[in-house]
Amino acid sequence: MITSCYIHIPFCDNICTYCDFCKRYPNNKIIDKYLYALKEEIINNYRKEKIKTLYIGGGTPSSLSIRNLKELMKIIKLLKFDKDIEFTFECNPENITKEKLLILKSNGVNRISMGVETTNNKLLKYLGRKHDFKLVKEKISLIKEIGIKNINVDLIYALPNERICDLKKDLDNIISLNINHISTYSLEIHHNTILGIKKTKSINEDLDRKMYDFICNYLKEKDFNHYEISNFCKDETFSYHNLGYWHNEKYYGFGLGASGYIDNVRYTNTRSIINYINNKRIIYKEEVNKKDKMIYELILGFRLINGINKKIFKEKYDIELINVFNIRDLIRQGLLIEDDEYIRIKEDNLYIENMILENFVD
Ligand code: SF4
Repeated sequence: MITSCYIHIPFCDNICTYCDFCKRYPNNKIIDKYLYALKEEIINNYRKEKIKTLYIGGGTPSSLSIRNLKELMKIIKLLKFDKDIEFTFECNPENITKEKLLILKSNGVNRISMGVETTNNKLLKYLGRKHDFKLVKEKISLIKEIGIKNINVDLIYALPNERICDLKKDLDNIISLNINHISTYSLEIHHNTILGIKKTKSINEDLDRKMYDFICNYLKEKDFNHYEISNFCKDETFSYHNLGYWHNEKYYGFGLGASGYIDNVRYTNTRSIINYINNKRIIYKEEVNKKDKMIYELILGFRLINGINKKIFKEKYDIELINVFNIRDLIRQGLLIEDDEYIRIKEDNLYIENMILENFVD
């Protein structure tokens, strides 16, 4: 049974200098056709399960006009909602408005994820963002005012010339917004982005590591629960949608460039909007066997601070976690630790998670 769904809205009014996501400039005719194709994709693939987590991401979903947003909400009505659904909508400060928020709320959105990235106005310009921190404060207040209390902000660190004191200022500013969830990303410079074309250099790895450690320690001091390598929340206000990914659960992925996992198939949709509109949708399919599923379970599950639950693993795969791949050796080497319920990556080693995972991934 599939209870999670991701929907991608690829339109952005402005392209950020670091962006490697699936996005494009909007155009009214294309948006109408896109929403029609999205509706068809959902009708043809959704099997009427009750959806417990729905995430509309992008691109910039909040850049849709009121008319298009209403149309999107009509399409969403094709999905049956669980009564306790977590329904997240991504927005950017410069194009989320009270009118749009009221439409979202009345259609069940109860979690907002805002692309803040940094609170330093100079760095925001450098990233090609169109907002400043003053606007972030106004829009976060507006979101709370209309009654949506579950709010995530995204933060990018390791920006060129950024110092630890700049990062601290960002964290302080974000904490002052009184939001409950923070997702952090170290800036990656991809060759096909504006920063990549300008041959911008990443900051050195030592500083990147120091910044990561600083974030983890500082947010812990401020009572944030570090529950996944890059994610922090107050109390238990996890992103349940993302927890589904990290628990290797199945999910629908609808829309341009979206990925999904249905039955034993992981798939990715095309990034070509023309092909998507013409129903030439899937460009990648991977049938996963039991071994592949276990590898995914480890790659994703070790991102969680709690690690992987041994009992659940045994129930899913009919084999003890300690006996798969070379988990036992990694525990002996002190890279993984085991308690009664879980096996996890030692917290000091989270930064080198990828290196540890290479031990059992071809
Ligand atoms: S708003 Fe997000 S998706 Fe759009 S260009 Fe910027 S980073 Fe990329």
